[in-house]
Amino acid sequence: MMNTTTPTTTSIKGGEWLIKESNAFDTYTPEDFNEEQQMVKEMCLQFLATEVIPAIDRIDKMEEGLMPALMVKAGEQGLLGASIPEELGGLGKDFITSTLVNEGLGGGYSFSVAVAAHTGIGTLPILYFGTEEQKQKYIPKLASGEWKGAYGLTEPNSGSDALGAKTTATLSADGKHYLLNGQKCWITNGGFADVYTVFAKIDGDKFSSFIVERGMEGFTQGPEEHKMGIKGSSTVQLYFQDCKVPVENLLGEVGKGHIIAFNILNIGRLKLCAAALGGAKSSLAVNVEYAKTREQFKTAIANFGAIKYKLAEMAIRIFVGESALYRTSKWVDDKEAELQAAGKPFNEALLGAAEEFAVECAILKVQGSEVLDYVVDEGVQVHGGNGFSDEYLISRAYRDSRINRIYEGTNEINRLLTVDMILKRAMKGKLDLMGPAMAVSKELMSIPDFGSEDEGTFAKEIKGIKNMKKCILMVAGAAVQKLMMKIQDEQEILMNIADMAIETFEAESTLLRVMKMADKQGEAASAVQIDIMRTYLTDANDRVNKAGKEAINAFASGDEQRMMLLGLKRFTKMEPFNTKDARRRIADRLIADGKYPW
Ligand SMILES: Cc1cc2nc3c(=O)[nH]c(=O)nc-3n(C[C@H](O)[C@H](O)[C@H](O)COP(=O)(O)OP(=O)(O)OC[C@H]3O[C@@H](n4cnc5c(N)ncnc54)[C@H](O)[C@@H]3O)c2cc1C
Repeated sequence: MMNTTTPTTTSIKGGEWLIKESNAFDTYTPEDFNEEQQMVKEMCLQFLATEVIPAIDRIDKMEEGLMPALMVKAGEQGLLGASIPEELGGLGKDFITSTLVNEGLGGGYSFSVAVAAHTGIGTLPILYFGTEEQKQKYIPKLASGEWKGAYGLTEPNSGSDALGAKTTATLSADGKHYLLNGQKCWITNGGFADVYTVFAKIDGDKFSSFIVERGMEGFTQGPEEHKMGIKGSSTVQLYFQDCKVPVENLLGEVGKGHIIAFNILNIGRLKLCAAALGGAKSSLAVNVEYAKTREQFKTAIANFGAIKYKLAEMAIRIFVGESALYRTSKWVDDKEAELQAAGKPFNEALLGAAEEFAVECAILKVQGSEVLDYVVDEGVQVHGGNGFSDEYLISRAYRDSRINRIYEGTNEINRLLTVDMILKRAMKGKLDLMGPAMAVSKELMSIPDFGSEDEGTFAKEIKGIKNMKKCILMVAGAAVQKLMMKIQDEQEILMNIADMAIETFEAESTLLRVMKMADKQGEAASAVQIDIMRTYLTDANDRVNKAGKEAINAFASGDEQRMMLLGLKRFTKMEPFNTKDARRRIADRLIADGKYPW
């Protein structure tokens, strides 16, 4: 048995998993949730079941006042202020608990979007960057749901390139107001919010942030957008025409708006992953239920191997996603505590923690949104023609899911950021990539070690992960060396490296979770989870190989190319595993339980 004391993860730094061998002590998993955390999650699921799902058609038809009223109800139950300090009207819970709220409410379709925007981008800028007066004025009302929050960053000509915003702010002659002029678009909750964090450039060049209230002179909203999905979520344009914002509503410092915008996004990305996985779990339950009851050829379609494959794959991806999500959430929690212990106030501590793990937040955003897309897309397929009918929940889930790959930074931007941030950490000396990358180069030149037999139940998988990391170091190291600064123009290669990093982080998180689980409850009791882990690792290993090959073929040639391709082959060599049988066992467990059981 391993020593199963509380894991100490405080010393872990962002991106370090890439160069360090992790062990199961380093991870935190859904099996570690305490009673209170489980209760909070149950409360959220109960809220959706009783208040939201029965009203889902009315929500999507945007029944006047319904969404704000539901948000007030959620606020009454404390669901809008889980991590807001008690003195500001919240519950003062830790980061993991607030992440659990996002997951728990994630299956609420448009309602989830409204709540996530309100509690995330709608509340956090003021909570983390507001002055004491601003916090006292706005946060208690946002925590209770009396006021609803929104966030205006995007403009018609600046989306991914957020700093290219054209909205301006000019100090009035009497020095009492900033006059905002410009337009924002795609603003979630914009139609009913009371408080907006709006970004504008002071004197046309100092990107800054302002708290704008509904009703301020010169501030109007456009009509609701007609969207592909999340139809019940309010999305409007905002217009500012000499909008008078009192100077005391400047949020943060002049010219430092980018710090607010980017830091809020780090946390938002992790939370989006949580909500997406919550949505994926509820859609998986819908899919399993349908597969069990729908009969064709005189048998339930759940009995067909092709359907079992899909159901099992949905569960695998969710399991993998949550393994990475809660591993990272614990790191953020621990780092926050460490910074607070060092004297930082809570807002600076959480921001510092989220910044430390910005790479992982970007990875989670990509993975979470793509897991949800897989679950709803194949869910429609499991439903056949009915999946195409508005009468079935899966059709709504399919439409609602798609936006997750677009907002909080598109998945392309987050993939690019993943690599960019890893390289920047290395350049700043925060992450020693050079040493490990050179060790891999040296290993490539040496004769492979055929002799040593792997020992222990998970020895082969541990080695597999180690080798996946070597693939990343080999490809990224060689690409940087060869292309230098020009690598920024080779986005296809950056995407390949990002995919390798995402696969490896997710696979390692899953392995650690399963090792911890097997240690605690025994291998027999963890058999299905071991199947999940081995299936994912087998596939992830192939995907790392493919992405690596694509990258190498794009920038290397001659002997260097041949040597790296051989290295890639060596590092992605894995023991064959019967994933077909494993998926059947996983699917059988889902079918027996009727939902995602872990
Ligand atoms: C329903 C909905 C709700 C939203 N809610 C909010 C909100 O509350 N507040 C808010 O401020 N914004 C919100 N947004 C805006 C959202 O954040 C942006 O749509 C998103 O950031 C993408 O910007 P864009 O639409 O301008 O696309 P673009 O930036 O034009 O991107 C178009 C395509 O080009 C790619 N691309 C762009 N730049 C690069 C690059 N450098 N390299 C490679 N590929 C690139 C993108 O990945 C994408 O595939 C919302 C959007 C929608 C649709």
